[in-house]
Amino acid sequence: MLKIEKNVALASYTTLKIGSLAEFFAVIKNREDLLAAIEWAKAHKKTIMVLGGGSNILVTKKIGDLVLKNEIKGMEILESNDEFALVEGKSGEPWVKFVNFAVAKNLYGLENLFLIYGTVGAAPIQNIGAYGVELKDVFYHLKAIDLKTGHEKIFALKDCHFGYRDSIFKHKLKGKYFIYSVTVKLQRQAEFNLSYGSISEELLKKGISEPSLNDIIKVIQEIRNAKLPNPGVLPNAGSFFKNVEVNAAKLKSLLKKNPTMPYFPLTRNKIRIPAGWLIESAGFKGKKLGLVGMSDKQALILVNHGGASAKQALALVKKVKVAVKKKFALDLEEEVNVI
Ligand SMILES: Cc1cc2nc3c(=O)[nH]c(=O)nc-3n(C[C@H](O)[C@H](O)[C@H](O)COP(=O)(O)OP(=O)(O)OC[C@H]3O[C@@H](n4cnc5c(N)ncnc54)[C@H](O)[C@@H]3O)c2cc1C
Repeated sequence: MLKIEKNVALASYTTLKIGSLAEFFAVIKNREDLLAAIEWAKAHKKTIMVLGGGSNILVTKKIGDLVLKNEIKGMEILESNDEFALVEGKSGEPWVKFVNFAVAKNLYGLENLFLIYGTVGAAPIQNIGAYGVELKDVFYHLKAIDLKTGHEKIFALKDCHFGYRDSIFKHKLKGKYFIYSVTVKLQRQAEFNLSYGSISEELLKKGISEPSLNDIIKVIQEIRNAKLPNPGVLPNAGSFFKNVEVNAAKLKSLLKKNPTMPYFPLTRNKIRIPAGWLIESAGFKGKKLGLVGMSDKQALILVNHGGASAKQALALVKKVKVAVKKKFALDLEEEVNVI
């Protein structure tokens, strides 16, 4: 039975621990709760905002809509043969549990995405990615519920318009659908993607030449623990900004002034530059502004040193963007959803 609460503080539902109130708030545990919430919103002329694990949002103002905290759980293998398995996760499952489920079944494909925070349902929103793999590489389809009509629609890979930390759900369909479940196609035979430098380096250091799934998981856990601040200790929302993409001409002019700048060619005329390097070079690594700061482990991550306000976070975001623009003539774009 759906219970609508009033004026619920959202900070504790986010990994940044920043946020104001939701005027209306409900936890949903199944499809019936969701459909009841859609009816309630229609009757009260409210829109719906979906909240997963709160690991990719900065709440800057009171939300007058109905916030739904997604706790719809369940994972199962839908189809399986000697080659692959189709695995479905309901959207309220923690992403880490979904990866563990696949690993326990000896299925390959999700291992590089181990330890990404948040829920299964949020993974397609920004096409989560890490260590050379993105959700789109294993994506089969998703089921979504129209937040106005309550009707279900299936989105295949081509319908999602996945890009770098991007999908149709951040643009044309923003706020229009509730992602109900995500199905991935995983392999029965080992097909590791070790292209991302530090994974193969760490395996080499351990003397592992033929890694198992558990070896990969362990190495990723070690790399992440060493490189990223733990939100349980120092609240944060992961990378605050996206890496920047430039063309060959812009790269040339940047390298002239900054010969040590790292870059990763995607195509001949599309080159990715790590935003963390730009922010660090602009002098913001470990820098504090009031109660917020940029992490001293990774300059790309905005951290809350305790009791920070959204106003302070926004002021730091602005400062970082202005400094990077001034030094490199590049525009940083937020990866975190600023609401
Ligand atoms: C320490 C740390 C490390 C991270 N590392 C990575 C990384 O390596 N790669 C990466 O890609 N991301 C990373 N992230 C970001 C984050 O974990 C992902 O973006 C994750 O998918 C967000 O999930 P969530 O459930 O917390 O989403 P939320 O923050 O709750 O929501 C994010 C957005 O998705 C919408 N949304 C959520 N669930 C649904 C749903 N079921 N239906 C419709 N809309 C929905 C929300 O309305 C909001 O707009 C990291 C975060 C942290 C804190």
